[in-house]
Amino acid sequence: MTAQPPANGHDHGHDHGHDHGPAAHSGAAATPLKMVIGGKLVDAADGQTFDVVSPVDGRVIVSVPKGGAEDVDRAVKAAQRAFDGEWHTWSQTRRGQTLARFATLIRQHLEELAQLESENMGKPISSARWEIGAVANVMEYYGGAANKLMGETIPVSKPGFDFTLREPIGVVGLIVPWNFPLMLASWKMGPALAAGNTAILKPASYTPLTAIRVAELALEAGFPPGVLNVVTGPGSVAGAAIAAHPGIGKVAFTGETATGQEIMRAAAGNIKKISLELGGKSPNVVFADADLERFAAEAPYSVFDNCGQDCCARSRILVERSVHDEVVELLAAATLKVKVGDPADDATEVGTMVSFRQRQNVLDYIRMAGEEGAHVVVGGGIPTDPALANGAYVQPTIFDRVTSRMRIAQEEVFGPVVAIIPFDTEEEAIRLANDTPYGLSGSVWTRDIAKAIRTAKGIQSGVISINCNSSVHAEAPFGGYKMSGTGRENGMHAFESYTQIKNVYIDLS
Ligand code: NAD
Repeated sequence: MTAQPPANGHDHGHDHGHDHGPAAHSGAAATPLKMVIGGKLVDAADGQTFDVVSPVDGRVIVSVPKGGAEDVDRAVKAAQRAFDGEWHTWSQTRRGQTLARFATLIRQHLEELAQLESENMGKPISSARWEIGAVANVMEYYGGAANKLMGETIPVSKPGFDFTLREPIGVVGLIVPWNFPLMLASWKMGPALAAGNTAILKPASYTPLTAIRVAELALEAGFPPGVLNVVTGPGSVAGAAIAAHPGIGKVAFTGETATGQEIMRAAAGNIKKISLELGGKSPNVVFADADLERFAAEAPYSVFDNCGQDCCARSRILVERSVHDEVVELLAAATLKVKVGDPADDATEVGTMVSFRQRQNVLDYIRMAGEEGAHVVVGGGIPTDPALANGAYVQPTIFDRVTSRMRIAQEEVFGPVVAIIPFDTEEEAIRLANDTPYGLSGSVWTRDIAKAIRTAKGIQSGVISINCNSSVHAEAPFGGYKMSGTGRENGMHAFESYTQIKNVYIDLS
C-alpha cells in the first residue's frame, strides 16, 4: 500500500470541535487523511471529517475521518475476518518475526513519525524521537516474546493428563490518549498482536496522525489486512462504540479516570476483559539525607517534561521540613533553566500543551491554587516571550505552602505545575503520599536504603522509583493501584493479559 500524502502535522479534534489558538491561520491544509480498516484506506461511513490543529500556531494541518459506530462495526467485522482467516494459521514465530520487521520499519521512519508526533502534539522533537525509538523497542520486545507464550502441565489427582493453552482473545479494542500518542498505542499493539489477537486502535481526536501512519507501516511489514485497524473519531462516539461492541473481547484503555469508569460500565455488556491505565497524582518524596543537588536537577523534568501532560508526573513534592527552604531554592533555580520553546527546536525541553483548551484548564488550576492560599515560587502563567505568543505555552510553575486538602494537591492538573508539601516524619511522608484517590507512580529520594525501601513499600502505587525519575520500561509491568487503573502494561504481565487460559484434561484411564 502506498503512504498517504504527508500530513505535516498537528493536533486537534477532541470531542468538542475546533480549538484554534489566538492567531489561527487558515492556509491550505494537506490532503485529508483516511482511516485504515481491513487493509484499506477509507473515509467515515457518513463522510464526516474533523480538523487536526497545531497547538504551536493554531493552524489547521489536515483533516481526518470522523468515524462513528458504523465505522467501528466495519472495523470489528474486518478484524474478525482477519482473526478467522490467514492470521489464525500463522505460527507464533511468524507473528514474532513480523513484529520484528514492524520494529525495523518504525526505526526507518523514526524521523517522519517523530516530526508528526511533535507537530501534532507540541512536544519537543527530541522527546518525540526518543518516544518513537521506544515504540520500536516495544515491538521488538513483543516480537521476541511471541514464541515464548507457553502453557503448563498440571499434576491433577485423577489418572489423566492436564495441560493449559494460552489462546488469543479475538478482536481487541485499543483506546489511547493524546499525551504519548504512539508510545501508549505501542504498549497495547505489541502484546495484542504478539498474542495472536486482531485489533482496532482508536487514537485520541487531538492526535490521530501517527496511528494512521503506523497502521500503513504494519501492512508494509506483512501483517494481513484487518489485523491492525485504525478508526479515528470522537471518544464519546467511536470510543464508546468500541467499549460497548459485542464483537470485541477486550478493551485496553489509557486516559482519564472518569472515562475509564464509563468504559468499565460499557464493557459489562458482554463481560469484556479490560485493562485501564488512568490518572495519577504521583508523589516525589525527598528526605533530608538525599542528594539534594541531584534531586533538584532531576525533579523538574519529572513534572515539566511533556509540558506536564504525563500520567506519571510527580506533581507533588513531599519534602522533609528541615530541608524545605533549601530544596525550594534549588528547585526554583533549576526550573528557571528549563528551556521552554518551539517544539521543532532541538534544544527545546518543554513545548506547548496539546491544545489551547488544555492550557486554559491548567491556567484555571493555577488561579484556583492561588485562591486557596498556595504561593507561586516560579512561573504561574503564560510565557512573556513574544516568539511564543501564538502557541499553547504555559510556564513551568512551582507552588509552595500547599496543604494536602487543596485541589492542586488532590486533582490531576495535567500541566507543568508542581505542589510542594512539607512533612516531619517518614510515617507522615507515607500518609501524605497516599492521601489521594490515585496510585500510579512516584519517587523516593534518600541515601538510607532501608528507609527508601520502607517508604517504597508504604506507598500505594503500581510503580515506584528510588533516587531517580524513571519507572517505565518495556520489559517491566506498569500500571496503577486504587483509581489509577487495573491491569498492567509492558513486560510479560501485559502479554498474558491479551490471552485467555484454556485448561485441557485427557482421561487416560
Ligand atoms: P480521555 O479519557 O479524555 O481520552 C482518552 C481516549 O478515550 C481518547 O481516545 C478519547 O477519544 C477516548 N474516549 C473519550 N471518551 C470516551 C468514551 N466515553 N468511551 C470510550 N472512549 C472514550 O483522556 P485524555 O485527555 O486523552 O488523556 C489524559 C488522561 O490520560 C489523563 O488523565 C492521564 O493521567 C491519563 N493517562 C494515563 C496513563 C496511564 O498509563 N495510567 C498514561 C497516559 C495518560
